[in-house]
Amino acid sequence: MAEDRALLVGRFQPIHKGHIHAVREILKEHKEIVIVVGSAQASHSLENPLTAGERVYMINKALHESDVDLSRSYIITVPDIQFNSVWPSHVRSYAPPFSIVYTGNSLVTALFSEAGVEVRHPKLFRRPELSGTRIRELLIKGDDSWRNFVPTSVAKLVDELHIRSRLLSILEDHDRQRLHNPLANHGQ
Ligand code: NAP
Repeated sequence: MAEDRALLVGRFQPIHKGHIHAVREILKEHKEIVIVVGSAQASHSLENPLTAGERVYMINKALHESDVDLSRSYIITVPDIQFNSVWPSHVRSYAPPFSIVYTGNSLVTALFSEAGVEVRHPKLFRRPELSGTRIRELLIKGDDSWRNFVPTSVAKLVDELHIRSRLLSILEDHDRQRLHNPLANHGQ
């Protein structure tokens, strides 16, 4: 039954305490949650440093650490497609049946609303400090305060998977490319 299952869409680069807060709030309102790891094909870039598998790994550990009921939670990965208007059906083909979507993204809002699905915006908990972009920036700077914004298990995995070194080497590659081609932008 789709009635009481909600979708939370994001890239989770990485999952942070704001996302966990949203998951808890959604589970107060709905029986089950489906966490959609979007842009599953993307990794090793400044916007998307983590692979889909690494993100699933971190989300699972973060939910467990935060005492979120895993028997009420699904984590799925969905690659992007070039065809926005059919993306809601694409997501449906990867997900268990659902009746409502939670997102912070305006395109996701537009596409699901046009497809007749109710869309809600999770409360932006402790913004702007709880933000994936900010966490990635702090990691690059070598500012350890990012650790306050993610569950301990996520910080541990970020260390074990050497994500800071990965970000620094991606940045170095971009800087090298820009030196050779000053008109090139930082890639996604
Ligand atoms: P985004 O545009 O990167 O993020 C939207 C904003 O919402 C981010 O600032 C995000 O912050 C914030 N946010 C999300 N959940 C939040 C929460 N619970 N609390 C606070 N802030 C929250 O996109 P996204 O929403 O992360 O991901 C949308 C996914 O859908 C992407 O993977 C996108 O590629 C995919 N998509 C694909 C297609 C297609 O393939 N044609 C079409 C539409 C969308 P954080 O950075 O902190 O998470």
